[in-house]
This record gives sequence, C-alpha cells and structure tokens, in this order.
Amino acid sequence: MKPAIRVHQLACSYYRTPVLRDLTFAVNPGECFIVIGPNGSGKTTLIKTLAGLLPVSGGDIFVQDRPLRRHKKADFSRRVAYVAQTGAEDSPFSVREMVLMGRAPYLGVLGVEGAADLEIARQAIAFTGLSHLSGRPMASLSGGERQRAHIARAICQRPEIILLDEPTAALDLAHQIRIMDLMAGLKNEHGTTVVMVSHDINLAAMYADRLLLLVEGRAAACGPPAEVIDEKRLAGAYGCRLLVDRSPAGPWPRVSLVPDTEVGGRKSEV
Ligand code: ADP
Repeated sequence: MKPAIRVHQLACSYYRTPVLRDLTFAVNPGECFIVIGPNGSGKTTLIKTLAGLLPVSGGDIFVQDRPLRRHKKADFSRRVAYVAQTGAEDSPFSVREMVLMGRAPYLGVLGVEGAADLEIARQAIAFTGLSHLSGRPMASLSGGERQRAHIARAICQRPEIILLDEPTAALDLAHQIRIMDLMAGLKNEHGTTVVMVSHDINLAAMYADRLLLLVEGRAAACGPPAEVIDEKRLAGAYGCRLLVDRSPAGPWPRVSLVPDTEVGGRKSEV
C-alpha cells in the first residue's frame, strides 16, 4: 500500500530559524492521522507545509508517491483539501457560495458551475448538517457552523486527503464531537485520509489511528495512541504533571492534568 503522504527528513525555517527538523513519517491511505504537541512545536507549520503553502528548507514531501512540488495546482486541489484555523469572518458570501468555491479545481476555463457541481455542494452542505443555513451569510454563523461550512467547502473538492488545522479549537463539547464524527464519517464512508492538528490530546486519542507527537519541530513519537500517549513522554514534552489511564468511555488512553497547587482546599491525590 503506497502512503498517502510521505515526509522524508523534512526541514522548515522562518527567516533561517529552524522550526521543523529532520521529520520523517508516512500517512497511510484512509487513516486518521493526528499531530499533537505543545504550543510552538511546529504543528501549524507542518500542516501548512503539507498543504504546499510554505516552502521547505530541506527534505522531501511526497503526496500519493509524487513529490509535492511536481503536483500541478488544480490537480493537487482535486486530491488534497486544506481547512485552515478559522476565526472571525466578514466574508460577504453565503454558505452555499462559499462551499461551491470548493468546485473551482474542477471547473473549465469559463469557471461556471454546472448542475453536477451544484449537487455536490448540496450534498456537502447536507453532510455537514448545514442545509437550513445554506442561504445565510458566512459572517452571520456561529463558530461551530462556520467551521462546518469550511469543512463542507473542503468536502466539495472531493479530496482523497483532507488536512485540517485545529478544527475543534474554540468549539464547545458537542461541536467538538460533531466535527470529529464528521471526519470519522469521511474516513469510514469515503476512505478519505484525514490529517489533522489538534491541541486536544484526549480527543486525538479517541479518533486517531496514529498520532505524531511533535516537540521542538522533531518527531518525539509516532504510532497508535496507546503507544504514543505515555505518561513520562507526555509530561516531558508538555512540561507538566499528568496521569494516563484507560478512558472509561472506550478502549483509548485518557490524559488527566494534575495541578501543582492546592485548589480550593482540595489537593490532588497523586
Ligand atoms: P504550533 O502550531 O505547534 O503552535 P507553529 O507552527 O505555529 O507551532 O509555530 C512554530 C514556531 O514557528 C514558533 O516558534 C512560532 O513562533 C514560529 N513561527 C510561526 N509562524 C511564523 C512566522 N510567520 N514567522 C516567524 N516565525 C513563525
């Protein structure tokens, strides 16, 4: 089985300051691969680099066995969709118009969408549960709705690989699970390869087939959650006290933070 993405000795710098160093890993087709790590460890830089948005300073990235730099733009956009971190939005477009932009890599020279494109956009909007909001301006949506609209735009590209940067950041619990379930649905129903950055280790442990733990731009560990989520390793990587046990909700590890100080007269028991 050829990897969906293969990264070999990747290095990336901002103004000569190295951020990613000697990174080597591969993502299998149809897997959910989640990148975790402390703030500033290079997660966003890595996902942007995989999306072809940042230059590399060393090493190679192969997407479906072809060097990233050799992919033509439209062809790459048919294979790979990228969902950036979303913040406030003042876009004048409606949800339907924004989602339809995902068809751009498939349109002819006139750039006019046909009935098939409109149907694909309708399906993507329905898949993300936004049908009732499709005529609404993007700027009027809540954070969770906006995030789903951006995911619908990416789905509309019909990509084989979807790259997402912190898609659950700033969402409440129900919306976090909803976004992660959407990604699991894409993977299970369409065989889409999902590569995601997450700051939430517990959510990542629940959904990832494999995790990559980045520390100071290097791969500190890569493997199934039960292997990567090791108490000593995480405590060292994040520089804080924590406990790892098995989640009562299912067969995945759970990380609990341990406070250093007494909190409201209550002390941690470890
Ligand atoms: P993470 O996503 O893990 O928080 P980032 O990839 O955003 O980490 O950042 C990694 C390092 O690169 C940080 O030290 C950050 O300050 C630096 N960095 C990120 N973006 C830029 C930029 N545009 N210019 C200079 N340095 C940057």
